[in-house]
Amino acid sequence: MGKRFDVMLFHGGKKKTFTLSYDDGVIQDRRLVELFDKYGVKCTFNLGYGVLDYESDPKMPFSISKVKPEEVRKLYENHEVGGHSLYHSDLTALKSPYAMYEILEDKVNLERLVGKPLKMFAYPFGFFNEDVKNYLKIAGYKGARTVVSTHSFDLPDDPLELNPTCHHDDEKLMELLRQFAEMKTIKPAMFYLWGHGYEFDGHDNWQVIEEAVSYIAQFEKDIWFATNGEILDYIKAYKMLEYSVDGSMIYNPSAIDVEIMTAFGQNEILKAGQLTQIGDTPL
Ligand SMILES: [Zn+2]
Repeated sequence: MGKRFDVMLFHGGKKKTFTLSYDDGVIQDRRLVELFDKYGVKCTFNLGYGVLDYESDPKMPFSISKVKPEEVRKLYENHEVGGHSLYHSDLTALKSPYAMYEILEDKVNLERLVGKPLKMFAYPFGFFNEDVKNYLKIAGYKGARTVVSTHSFDLPDDPLELNPTCHHDDEKLMELLRQFAEMKTIKPAMFYLWGHGYEFDGHDNWQVIEEAVSYIAQFEKDIWFATNGEILDYIKAYKMLEYSVDGSMIYNPSAIDVEIMTAFGQNEILKAGQLTQIGDTPL
């Protein structure tokens, strides 16, 4: 038996992942989806079911109108739909039954629209506390995004407190992206970018997001482009692996193929639902 540590790799043996998160289901999401699809990056779009179809005052300098319920499934089909509370309420300020209602009524209706259970949530205004985290857990959410920029590439410690790397208006955006794309890393790393589609109209800066995703798309060989939910599922599958005492056999009970780098620097694909012999491990 040798050392039995291993390192989680993402699909394709990649060590890095890049994900996006955009809120509110605004009509600018249509342009964002087109842009993200053009460059092959993946986003989680967080919607409030109760405000879908809302039309903002045309006298406003830019629109914050929302997409229509009937377009949700098709529009976001290459991405992920997450919850954002029914009416975009500060959930920390509501009494618990109404906070639960805001979370559940949003979730049940969005699930009917997209045809699958929702995994992800974004805290409206970024406000949350332990109670709100618990409501999300009870509602079946697996992860929730805050608005706290870390400027780091660490995987989340607590999926219900997913802190993004930065907002797209962050002046360090391109510098951070370059650092992420060029860095050599042993442990898995994540770049998590967030914002709102209407901000690009408001600040007249669509070039910011195009520059960011077209840059990062060049590193497809090294970076796994995935939705928030896909990344959480993958990490969970890695954590579920069952090891023999001598480390030579690993069972993957999940439905996702998991890749690791063994202590000997070997990449191994641990097939979903299968036992893998990773060879003799010398003493
Ligand atoms: Zn919002």
